Amino acid sequence: MQESLAAPLPGMVFSSIQQRAEVVENREMARDTLCLRLRCPDIARQIVPGQFFMIRPVGGADPLLGRPFALYDTIDESGEPTCLEFGYLVVGKLTSLMASWQASDEVEIWGPLGNGFPVPTADHLMFVAGGIGQTPFLAAAREALGHRTYGNRRPDALPRRVSMCYGVRNAEYVAGEDDFAVDGLDFRLATDDGSRGHHGYVTDLLSQALGSDDPPDGVYCCGPEPMMNAVSAICLERDVPCWLSLETPMACGFGACFSCVVRVRTGDDEWDFRRTCVEGPVFRADQLWAE
Ligand SMILES: Cc1cc2nc3c(=O)[nH]c(=O)nc-3n(C[C@H](O)[C@H](O)[C@H](O)COP(=O)(O)OP(=O)(O)OC[C@H]3O[C@@H](n4cnc5c(N)ncnc54)[C@H](O)[C@@H]3O)c2cc1C
Repeated sequence: MQESLAAPLPGMVFSSIQQRAEVVENREMARDTLCLRLRCPDIARQIVPGQFFMIRPVGGADPLLGRPFALYDTIDESGEPTCLEFGYLVVGKLTSLMASWQASDEVEIWGPLGNGFPVPTADHLMFVAGGIGQTPFLAAAREALGHRTYGNRRPDALPRRVSMCYGVRNAEYVAGEDDFAVDGLDFRLATDDGSRGHHGYVTDLLSQALGSDDPPDGVYCCGPEPMMNAVSAICLERDVPCWLSLETPMACGFGACFSCVVRVRTGDDEWDFRRTCVEGPVFRADQLWAE
């Protein structure tokens, strides 16, 4: 790992660092889905679940802007926290380029960015993931189950139960199932076409769990916007605290450009803008402004 020769980006907040990092591996996880592992021992010890990094190629101007990716986990092949892993779906310019990166290539990154998930306080914590929105939940699960600690966070008490509902289009897109075979994680799968797990949306699994005799009393959610809206509505209706990790497109990642603002509730019938990159990406569902 080598500090970038470029001057630090203006307005860099917290202990975020712009630097070059070496690719350790770039493995296939599912259809159009890969996991990029970078060697970054200093940052790997600081980052917490739900935070993210901006990634771009070294030099060159295409793409000029970095793209945000949530932390998947930090452990290397020997189980030590020396790396940053990012699971990603190939959708456009940068992610197509990322798919060609190989071990020993160098990439430019800045972070850790954003607030991350709150330290869990629920008795039964549930993660609800849609598609590539599963990425922030591996580290979150390992932390909530007491298998790992991240940054300087030390939860006072761990949830009694941690469960995860993960929905994808079809079986080809199920990514990281082996990684999520975490001891103690109650893991459920749904596919839109019924090719694996429950036939239907992941929100069906959430509704089933909420109607069970051991319902979750805290929900962390990440996925496509319509799915997060549905999860939010279900949780709000039942008064279950819910946090959404937004995937709002952004240009700088550190609060300078205001391209990623969302509307949040600031009082009865009052709202204001907040930047997803610094005040988020994790927001309480009941704080987000719904028309
Ligand atoms: C905080 C945060 C964390 C994120 N974490 C992850 C992560 O862990 N893994 C991951 O894969 N993605 C993640 N994303 C989304 C990721 O940043 C985008 O997929 C990425 O910017 C796409 O870049 P690109 O250059 O490949 O696509 P672009 O060339 O910028 O876009 C090409 C086309 O793809 C469409 N597109 C862009 N983003 C998406 C999307 N998310 N889904 C579907 N279509 C899209 C655009 O509308 C456009 O038509 C995260 C976003 C945020 C804000």
